[in-house]
Amino acid sequence: FDLPKAKNEPVLSYAPGSAEKKELKAALKELRSKAIDLPMHIGGKTVTTGDKVPVSPPHDHQHILGHFHKGTSAHVHQAIDAALAAKADWENMPWQDRAAIFLRAADLLAGPYRAKMNAATMLGQSKNAYQAEIDCVAELCDFFRFNAEYMADIYAQQPESAPGIWNRVEYRALEGFIFAITPFNFTSIAGNLPAAPALMGNTVVWKPAETQIYSAAVIMEIFEAAGLPAGVINLIYVDGPMAGDIIFNHKDFAGLHFTGSTKVFQTLWQTIGKNISKYRSYPRIVGETGGKDFVVAHPSARAQEVGTALIRGAFEYQGQKCSAASRAYIPESMWPELKKMLTKEMASVKMGDPEDFTNFVNAVIDERAFDKISGFIAQAKKDDGVEVLVGGNYDKSKGYFIEPTILVAKDPKYRTMCEEIFGPVLTIHVYPDDQYEQTLELVDETSPYALTGAIFSQDRAATLLANEKLRHAAGNYYINDKPTGAVVGQQPFGGARASGTNDKAGSVLNLYRWVSPRLIKENF
Ligand code: GLU
Repeated sequence: FDLPKAKNEPVLSYAPGSAEKKELKAALKELRSKAIDLPMHIGGKTVTTGDKVPVSPPHDHQHILGHFHKGTSAHVHQAIDAALAAKADWENMPWQDRAAIFLRAADLLAGPYRAKMNAATMLGQSKNAYQAEIDCVAELCDFFRFNAEYMADIYAQQPESAPGIWNRVEYRALEGFIFAITPFNFTSIAGNLPAAPALMGNTVVWKPAETQIYSAAVIMEIFEAAGLPAGVINLIYVDGPMAGDIIFNHKDFAGLHFTGSTKVFQTLWQTIGKNISKYRSYPRIVGETGGKDFVVAHPSARAQEVGTALIRGAFEYQGQKCSAASRAYIPESMWPELKKMLTKEMASVKMGDPEDFTNFVNAVIDERAFDKISGFIAQAKKDDGVEVLVGGNYDKSKGYFIEPTILVAKDPKYRTMCEEIFGPVLTIHVYPDDQYEQTLELVDETSPYALTGAIFSQDRAATLLANEKLRHAAGNYYINDKPTGAVVGQQPFGGARASGTNDKAGSVLNLYRWVSPRLIKENF
């Protein structure tokens, strides 16, 4: 059975007057018009509790989109039990039938659910239409379709046999259940972290970030509409440490699929390590965590290209991509032209509500993020040796708005050149042209994270030098392009060092982590 060949889902433009724009506007209006109930989904049933927590758009925090039903420890146990109960039937289902469910989910998402999914991501996570489209529609469809193809590729990997001997590998799902902990910043990642292990025959307990529940509920609706059997993915809204306490003490815990902060991931890993003798198998731990992603320009690079990459790389989705450009190293000879371009272009960047389609920058996710990011800016205004080139203002009266901000730091080790901010703040360091090699060494030295990075150069020798010096400083490394916007099937995504286990989302590497192969040798 050959699968349909996976292709990237085309990204719609939402141009003025387009049919897709009309549909999306209608979906936004519809979702805004009523506060909905967001129950958990355990064992194929919706579960409500007395503990209702309001959900609001980050750009309009007084408006209520709905309430999620917060669960207790009993619900964590129920979700584990449901996952374990669903396991045998799901694992034994022919893989083509499992693939078909996710391929159908992709078609539902690209078709009848497209507008609703986009609207939910725009409202719940304050993404503009284009950022929502590339995330919750295109990328999530791509994850479903490409992963199905990669699964087939994995199953086709078989050993040699010999006369009278048949060797074969059975790619079993892991023994136990998987725990997926998912982030707010990409709806696609939130959908893929439970879906990838499930595709390989595992069953999953899924805990999304509280700030992404509104769109997570739509993903779950699509899974169910696509025919995902009860209990394969169980969506719970619970306190993280409480859930961790139960899950990481359970003998059937078989794997963690995580995207979130480095600190949380390290704590979870330590807990798993501490409990290692309690588990039936060594759990698979797959995580994508923080980043402090760089852009280095060589004097031969084109200033306009660097400028565009910095604006898009640093400020799309308010810099809340793990891959966002947050520090840049610019040669003195390029700086006057680049500075002029950045100042001019940034003056026309509009910030505001994503429901007004002209705004490029929207709100940051919540008050905690707002306070943290604005704290970095406030400190930079006071510190010597740092200049605010662009932006620097913020206001949380209606929504959590922070102006896209460009800082210029004399010291390449100034804190905003080194610490992860996860917001619309870019810091630039200008270096003497003859210090290119030393600058590359400095970039590597100041990279405890190694997620993404970009080098801009029109000089091949300079490019090669960067490739060598920065070999371990980024898991996704871009030459003459911004460090964001990886496309499934084209640029598998992930980083090393403190940025994660680098099991590349949307690749065979990731899917291999969710199987435990059994080699069978049979003599005739
Ligand atoms: N894959 C996304 C990109 O390339 C980033 C994912 C993330 O923020 O975790 O921009």
